[in-house]
Amino acid sequence: MVYPADYHMHTPLCHHASGEPAAYAAQAVKLGLKEIGFSDHSPMRADDFDNWRMRFDQLGGYVESVLQTRRAFPQLNIRLGLEVDYLPGHELWIQELASLYPWDYLIGSVHYVSGDWEVDNPARREEWTRRKPEEIWADYFKRLTQAAATRLFDIIGHADLPKKFGCQPPAQCQAMFEPFLQTASASQVTVELNTAGLRKDCREIYPSREILRSACVLGVPISFGSDAHAPEEVGMNFADAVGWARSAGYTHSSQFEQRRRCSVPLPA
Ligand code: ZN
Ligand code: FE
Ligand code: FE
Ligand code: ZN
Repeated sequence: MVYPADYHMHTPLCHHASGEPAAYAAQAVKLGLKEIGFSDHSPMRADDFDNWRMRFDQLGGYVESVLQTRRAFPQLNIRLGLEVDYLPGHELWIQELASLYPWDYLIGSVHYVSGDWEVDNPARREEWTRRKPEEIWADYFKRLTQAAATRLFDIIGHADLPKKFGCQPPAQCQAMFEPFLQTASASQVTVELNTAGLRKDCREIYPSREILRSACVLGVPISFGSDAHAPEEVGMNFADAVGWARSAGYTHSSQFEQRRRCSVPLPA
């Protein structure tokens, strides 16, 4: 199987990934991928916002390292992306980031819900015992819907990230993700199939098949990402992800160049 483009990979600039971009590209070539994209965690306006992203003065170096890898691997399409945190009130900052470099795509990700807590931070996992899961999920999908509505992003990352530690959304969650998917459909923003979930306690691709089926019915486009934080994670479980997409009804996936989307058939 020729894998679809892997649009979600990190670099050591975020302090929790290993391997230089060239090592990720080499792994992609080894697996027969035709297209990849780097999407490291974006800087915030305040460099001390948290400890898992590059500083703003490192952004130019990040871009240069991706473009340099592009030149070193002419057999591979290498796209320039960024995984941008969506928080309400950050819209102007995100617009500024978008204007600075010739991005091929921006992934909008919600990690922070209601204040300064990232739902997926292992160091702050105990916060899950202090809040009601249904409130966490509701806050999460509310922010995700806002993120899609801004049209600041080409792709929405790991759409049901709060399941990471194994807490699946409560039964009433259809009511939570439906508005998100309707907004994604109206904005024609792509939803990412992220295989990192298979490497976490939830042991499941983000998003769930239930979400993906609804997304397909609503005509929401999809793309693929390994969320690689190490070279050996590039393209990981992509055959499963393609099967996951097909079983939800999808026949095509999105590719991006200079923030323009095109639709390509899924591999057979
Ligand atoms: Zn990360
Ligand atoms: Fe993320
Ligand atoms: Fe990521
Ligand atoms: Zn991620």
